[in-house]
Amino acid sequence: MLYLPTRIFLGSSALNDARAYICNEGKKALIVCGKSSAHKSGVLAELLPILAEEGIAHSVFSGVCENPDLDCVTQGKDQFLREGCDFLIAIGGGSPMDAAKAISLAAANKLSEDQLYDATLRKKSYGIVAIPTTHGTGSEVTQYSVLTNTKTQIKAGFGSDLIFPRLAIVDGRYMSSLSSRVSLNTSMDALSHLLEGIYSTKREPLLFPMITRGIRLIIDNLSLCLKEPDYLPARQALAQASLFGGIAIAHTSTTLQHAIGYPFTTEFGVPHGLANAMFLRQIMEFYAPAIKDELSLLFEKIGLSQNEFLAWLDSFPIQLKVDLGGIKLEDWIEQILNSRNIQISPVIPTAIELREIIRSIQKD
Ligand code: NAP
Ligand code: ZN
Repeated sequence: MLYLPTRIFLGSSALNDARAYICNEGKKALIVCGKSSAHKSGVLAELLPILAEEGIAHSVFSGVCENPDLDCVTQGKDQFLREGCDFLIAIGGGSPMDAAKAISLAAANKLSEDQLYDATLRKKSYGIVAIPTTHGTGSEVTQYSVLTNTKTQIKAGFGSDLIFPRLAIVDGRYMSSLSSRVSLNTSMDALSHLLEGIYSTKREPLLFPMITRGIRLIIDNLSLCLKEPDYLPARQALAQASLFGGIAIAHTSTTLQHAIGYPFTTEFGVPHGLANAMFLRQIMEFYAPAIKDELSLLFEKIGLSQNEFLAWLDSFPIQLKVDLGGIKLEDWIEQILNSRNIQISPVIPTAIELREIIRSIQKD
């Protein structure tokens, strides 16, 4: 079954093409963004004149940090209600897009931080226009919001069809200002999503051609993009791959591949994409015996053997080693095994297997 209620605009004229639809969203937008990327990406410079010409008022909430937490959602909700906004425009990577989704629900249903994860309290939402400036999360086409609980410091996502963005405006031009580090990490996040579209027990064969195309786009364009950050065709290709990754996980959700990275992000600040990337090889090897047919079809379609693919992966600086000495490994294992991503993994690891995978990145 396929379901995607987001209207998608892709390429160099995406914002202009979406203009008439933005006008239908409301009269006053809360623009949700981080400190600098809405400017650096060039989105604001193109968007603000359009809003002005169309008579759409706005208020800017630029308080979204990387890996947003519940406090940030409350601040955004308060500003949305105080300013009398009636829709949201999220500009940035996954962090602002996920924050905007939670702000939409919190404002529409008057939810407190503690109530946000209670699905029974989510009755309505405000429309969201998503303009990604990284090529990683695909959050512009997913129903997920991943937040860190301010009290527990646990990073956990939730999903609701109410927070699928109404419009996704995906243009690689807005990603040329990314540093090479963020370009690499976010591409690895997109790669994880595409692979998880195959790994997940909720895999949908109708999506396989899109997934293999997305992986091939990353293989063909990532090195090129890192060498020539301003080369637009490579950015557009990576933006498209990221969009495809988002469409994939909107249907299949993410797996252990994501769950294992979350504590590294909250405890050590490892960027989300890198937290996935450092376990890509291990998770593929762990899952492989359970999904032989799916993987052989995947590698046939992308025209590489599994070993060639892993060698390509190893050519990037993603092999982070971490001193695990000070962490409460058993708590992490419990947290990962209890995460919602685990049940749809093709193999559910035992605590012993999980410990072994985590220890593979131990610093000597
Ligand atoms: P991000 O946290 O949104 O941004 C990372 C950094 O890149 C920030 O410093 C940001 O600056 C900067 N940046 C963004 N765009 C830029 C641009 N065009 N030029 C220069 N700098 C730019 O990174 P992300 O990897 O895209 O998002 C990660 C978050 O998304 C995580 O919380 C993850 O869990 C979540 N996620 C959600 C989904 C989903 O389906 N909802 C899927 C995967 C991941 P600013 O601070 O100024 O913005
Ligand atoms: Zn991700």
